[in-house]
Amino acid sequence: MKTILKTNLTVKDITDGFVYNEYEGKGLFGWSGRLTIQPEYQRNYIYADGKKDVAVIDSILKGYPLGLLYFVKVGEDKYEVLDGQQRITSFGRFITNKFAIKDDNGMEQYFDGLDNEIQDKIYNTPLTIYICEGEEPEIKKWFEIINIAGVPLKNQELLNSIYSGKFVTLAREEFSNPQNAYIQKWSAYIRGDVNRQDFLETALRWVSKDNIDNYMSKHRTDENINELKSYFNSVIDWISSVFVDVKPEMRGLDWGRLYETYHKNSYNPTDVSNKLSELYSDPFVKDTKGIFEYILGGCKDTKLLNIRLFDENVTRVKYEMQTKNAKEKEISNCPLCAIGDNNNKTRIWEFKEMDADHVTAWSKGGATDIDNCEMLCQTHNRAKGNR
Ligand SMILES: [Zn+2]
Repeated sequence: MKTILKTNLTVKDITDGFVYNEYEGKGLFGWSGRLTIQPEYQRNYIYADGKKDVAVIDSILKGYPLGLLYFVKVGEDKYEVLDGQQRITSFGRFITNKFAIKDDNGMEQYFDGLDNEIQDKIYNTPLTIYICEGEEPEIKKWFEIINIAGVPLKNQELLNSIYSGKFVTLAREEFSNPQNAYIQKWSAYIRGDVNRQDFLETALRWVSKDNIDNYMSKHRTDENINELKSYFNSVIDWISSVFVDVKPEMRGLDWGRLYETYHKNSYNPTDVSNKLSELYSDPFVKDTKGIFEYILGGCKDTKLLNIRLFDENVTRVKYEMQTKNAKEKEISNCPLCAIGDNNNKTRIWEFKEMDADHVTAWSKGGATDIDNCEMLCQTHNRAKGNR
């Protein structure tokens, strides 16, 4: 791989012919048409927050270095930004009056309103640019390394760069586009930042059953994203038809796995909704996130709910009662051992060898109070399982 260091280009050179696409949130071209600022594998522009973009202009005005910019030579006098897209887009947007900075008097100033002297200072800021030329794998490798500094690329952003092409472009248009009107609906179930590819990653994880890399490699040259899109929509439609309520705990659940495991079962949304509010208001349910799978699985696996256990004072009292009674009858203080036929039949277990169990399982309406508490030896407690 060959690299050339260029120090004779300025902000004015690079922003000549700057085009920003408001709709896609991308800085597109610069350097008089030679430079693609946001190749399809790059992340969306994330500096437009009135802070990071303003900070870039402040740095220029104060004469601080902007850091290295990396371009890849992709053709005769044609380049793509490998690293520096956010900074270039920031000063490009400023020069095209897309945002304002505050002057010394706290007044908002757009580029056009600045004194010529200040405009020139910005225009004439020199940039330090590495241009690299080489085979794709080496450049990709390099890209990984340089992105360790600064805001590290997320895994999906890296995968987008490795598998860039038509498929990734279409997938990003659908799942990484903040203008997509469905984002809000999807946000009820998916956690993350659309700009940082979290929604795309989720969609790919679902369709690929957690094998994103492999899926992207296989579909890299596809001309459409039909499968990705329809699988994603099936999962979303399924969630919203089974669970008519939207709860904050639904965000970020492993819906892909839940869909695969349970979507062939039928559910009555009204029953589901009633069960959901019943469990939400049950003080013994400690894990509200687990409610969804608990219901999907037919309300059997109470481990998912992490049911609150008996207090120690209750279990101590119960232990003393059972033990006293057992000693009188010369049987084991574990009622299940007592009816067995091995040596434990008459064994008196110590407190620490026993666990509390619900006589009537919690899932069958049994309360977590002393009347429904029974001490069992640990072997029998585990065997009984269902709380
Ligand atoms: Zn026992």
